[in-house]
Amino acid sequence: MAEADGLLLNRAAAAELRYPTEALIDGQSRAAADGARFANIGPGDGRSLGDVAAGGARDVDAAVASARAAFDDGRWRDQSAKAKKALLFAFADTLARHADELALLESLDTGKPIAQARGSDIPGSVEATRYYAEALDKLTGEVAPPSPTRLSYAVHEPLGVVGAIVPWNFPLLMAMWKVAPALAMGNSVVLKPAEQSPMTAIRMAELALEAGLPPGVLNVVPGTGEAAGRALAMHMDVDMVAFTGSGPVGRKLMRYSGDSNLKRISLELGGKSPQIVFPDCPDLDAAAQAAAWGVFYNQGQVCTSASRLLVHEDIKAEFVARVVEIARTIVPGDPLDPATSFGAMVSEAQMNTALRYIGIAEQEGGKPLLAGGRVRAETGGFYVAPTIFGIQPGVTLAREEVFGPVLGVIGFSSDEEAFAIANDTVYGLAAGIWTADVDRAHAAARRLKAGLVWINGWDSCDITMPFGGFKQSGFGRDRSMHALAKYADLKAITFTLRPSR
Ligand code: NAD
Repeated sequence: MAEADGLLLNRAAAAELRYPTEALIDGQSRAAADGARFANIGPGDGRSLGDVAAGGARDVDAAVASARAAFDDGRWRDQSAKAKKALLFAFADTLARHADELALLESLDTGKPIAQARGSDIPGSVEATRYYAEALDKLTGEVAPPSPTRLSYAVHEPLGVVGAIVPWNFPLLMAMWKVAPALAMGNSVVLKPAEQSPMTAIRMAELALEAGLPPGVLNVVPGTGEAAGRALAMHMDVDMVAFTGSGPVGRKLMRYSGDSNLKRISLELGGKSPQIVFPDCPDLDAAAQAAAWGVFYNQGQVCTSASRLLVHEDIKAEFVARVVEIARTIVPGDPLDPATSFGAMVSEAQMNTALRYIGIAEQEGGKPLLAGGRVRAETGGFYVAPTIFGIQPGVTLAREEVFGPVLGVIGFSSDEEAFAIANDTVYGLAAGIWTADVDRAHAAARRLKAGLVWINGWDSCDITMPFGGFKQSGFGRDRSMHALAKYADLKAITFTLRPSR
């Protein structure tokens, strides 16, 4: 099929879609109680994808009441592990059957390339659901050393009502990294998608109902952060809020918890991740690809984005030239074109943030290595091409998270200097190193202050490994068995025994 045909087919399929726009509370599709709505803008062309229910405190109250009732009457929690497992597998299968629809919705809503939504976001969401379906009876308890007078054991119990507040960069994937383990543990969930990307969250919850999840167990309240998000995080009957998003909102959630019922909070807050390349790098081509795609994937809107490239001075000129050459081939295109590998930024605001940081880098003496900036403005969409600066440690581009396709390159001359620069950030989400020296690699793994360390690869791990940050990148882990445990409380039970003899 010619590429142009693929674009036309995707446009035709998108035109046939029903865009999900309403809240899903207690198994019912509902407008906001006060009738409020917000405009959902498609970033690929700046046009409206329809007005979406803007949930507020009353809608959150209704969703939490529904989730609480579902939890308390045991319609989900008290099902056998076998039944829960079967249902979550059926849910995953239903998502997989609707993969094309979900991928189109995701691409329209976020501006991400359809190929990426099809190849990564949606399969990853299905995989997360299957992983936690399989995992749910593997989290066993503990038995204390035996005693003639006592039998003590500890069990994991679901928390109750879990609020999930998720961002727009990987809307369905981030939702399923939270919803799947929370449900697998037996909790009820109220999900608040980002206002930029509500569609797949709503559709996913409809599909959960279709797969047989009892009404009330999974509710979705779209709306703004300040209205729906705040109401959920301040709610006295929510037991935990799992969050992915910005640092300032993460801080607010901690305050909301303190000002309400001390609900548990988990935070995944992004970073300023370094990728360090030494002269003994075993594969400079692979490293150059990783340096470019590590920061430009998803238009740079990735919490683990490798936005700082640290290169040893001995190879810097040659290596950076390779990275620039690769970055030149990463050309923004129509998100619905199957040939596009780099799409639009999620919103005009996020595009302007990236452009502002480009302006700051120029003002602070950054050396332009690849001039990107805004492109495809004539489409009405929000496109920023890959942009690269040579920078010094300490400048704004070396410290602040851009969340856009802007790379800062920094030179170093020794291992000590590389580790010091890498750790010179308030964040600690991911870090990577390219070296053939095992001792250096081990030293890096130990010394880099980050929740994820990748050696001779970037973003090279999967659902089985914990994902989350050190320092101001947050706390609590998504993915892996640790995420399952996050949605549980540990109860210690002791029988006092009367020995018969
Ligand atoms: P954000 O933190 O404002 O939004 C994330 C989620 O939090 C959304 O669902 C939003 O509605 C909700 N929210 C906002 N204010 C809230 C409040 N007061 N109470 C409860 N919930 C609230 O992020 P953003 O404004 O969409 O993006 C801004 C920056 O956040 C980006 O530039 C980037 O640095 C960072 N970000 C990080 C990630 C990540 O994966 N760590 C993802 C998206 C954005």
